[in-house]
Amino acid sequence: MQKATLSDLLQGDVCIHVMAANSVDVENLLAWEILLHFYPAIKRLTVILIGPEVQPLRPDKDVCSTCVFNEQICNYEFYPMQYHTYVKSSSYVQPTAIIGFQVEFGAFREIWADSIKALSRQSCPILLTAKSNEEAMKNIIQMENVLGTIVKPDIYLENDFKSFKPFFDINANFVCYRNTILTVFKNSLALNTGDAS
Ligand SMILES: [Zn+2]
Repeated sequence: MQKATLSDLLQGDVCIHVMAANSVDVENLLAWEILLHFYPAIKRLTVILIGPEVQPLRPDKDVCSTCVFNEQICNYEFYPMQYHTYVKSSSYVQPTAIIGFQVEFGAFREIWADSIKALSRQSCPILLTAKSNEEAMKNIIQMENVLGTIVKPDIYLENDFKSFKPFFDINANFVCYRNTILTVFKNSLALNTGDAS
């Protein structure tokens, strides 16, 4: 978040959309509380997990005593649907930032097309991670194809906070790590399109 210079946004009411969420994101839900510890100015953090595979989970513990003392609250919401369906739903809440862990826009292109268009209409920072350079580049190319223009991230780097637990990717036939590459659009995807050179 600091590298992405998004720290100024992390105060008061904060709403994070986790798009393309899956069971891994649900299992790691409680890790979001760390944001409250790093950013005491956040008073209410709402993490909204959106993705067809999302299974609602009721966390079995509330925030820690430090967060309670600081009057910080953390809520989770679950929407088992595609991102563009959520955006059009009555449940939609404008996000402070959107995060997509391990997104693979290159797969199921037709399905992702509508979600990429929905993403481009959001006025907030977007952070995407991918397991490899190849997958991150595929994501950018797919965004360019869908939006019909050049897409230039503000930040594209190897993520300091990538997973150190290797997994064997059957499709790519090599060992990789979750969230290896971080791609950031600081203000909105729409501002990063077109030939700005
Ligand atoms: Zn806490």
